[in-house]
Amino acid sequence: MSVNKPDWLKIKYDGSGRFEEIAEMIKSLQLHTVCKEANCPNAVECFSKKTATFMILGNVCSRNCRFCNVSEGKPLPVDPLEPAKVADAVRKLGLKYVVITSVTRDDLPDGGSSQFANVIRELKEISEDMAVEVLAPDFQGDPEALSKVVNAKPKVINHNIETIERLYAQVRPQADYHRSLDFISRVKKLDPAIYSKSGFMVGLGEKKEEVKKLLHDLYAHGCDIVTIGQYLAPSEKHFPVQEYVHPDVFQMYKEMGMEMGFKYVASAPFVRSSYHASEAF
Ligand code: SF4
Ligand code: SF4
Repeated sequence: MSVNKPDWLKIKYDGSGRFEEIAEMIKSLQLHTVCKEANCPNAVECFSKKTATFMILGNVCSRNCRFCNVSEGKPLPVDPLEPAKVADAVRKLGLKYVVITSVTRDDLPDGGSSQFANVIRELKEISEDMAVEVLAPDFQGDPEALSKVVNAKPKVINHNIETIERLYAQVRPQADYHRSLDFISRVKKLDPAIYSKSGFMVGLGEKKEEVKKLLHDLYAHGCDIVTIGQYLAPSEKHFPVQEYVHPDVFQMYKEMGMEMGFKYVASAPFVRSSYHASEAF
């Protein structure tokens, strides 16, 4: 199925000087940001607000979700210097709100959770008001792995549910809807002071009732913050976009979520899980 992009999705990536300068610096430190690698349309805005999303533990994933552009294959060895390198970049860029994410590392015994914890601790050393948000994989449901991340005390732990339950087999075959919900509820049980967050894409073929059920499930599992954005297929080989959801429908989902009781809902075509992340507080 092929659907033409509507006008509201035709705002284009702005390759302004500041963005290029920052991207070069990050590259020189051998780091990866989602902002640059995904050519995120929000990059200029986020960098100017001193927010960026770093991808740790390499850029090769042990899974192969049908909506995702990250390479699948044999993941890279863990770099013990990575926490210090990320902290170095954050200092140089003067960032105040840092999102740390990773590919899924099912190959590592702890799923990469120790590296997450080490990065969070390094970043919190920079200054007292440094806010760290973690966008974590599901760690295959390993409670010890999640505890390591919680114990490092980031401000927010995000785990994206990505889509409604019915579409998991098609677009997220190696993940499990209920395992992802459990992840979110365990964050709040382990440390109620940490904000729990999740996000999903629309335009994959979900129905409005199914989105409502998904929001209910997230809320019932203790999720504080939700992000909802338009799915954009990275290439013709990826899962095809089924629909470009109208901005009015995004607004309706936002109102639905706020009425349910979420602390914050960001819902618009260009919303990504880390977009305007610091505004939820
Ligand atoms: Fe980076 Fe996230 Fe902002 Fe995109 S929305 S530029 S990935 S921080
Ligand atoms: Fe992409 Fe994450 Fe799926 Fe890996 S687990 S393919 S990084 S969405």
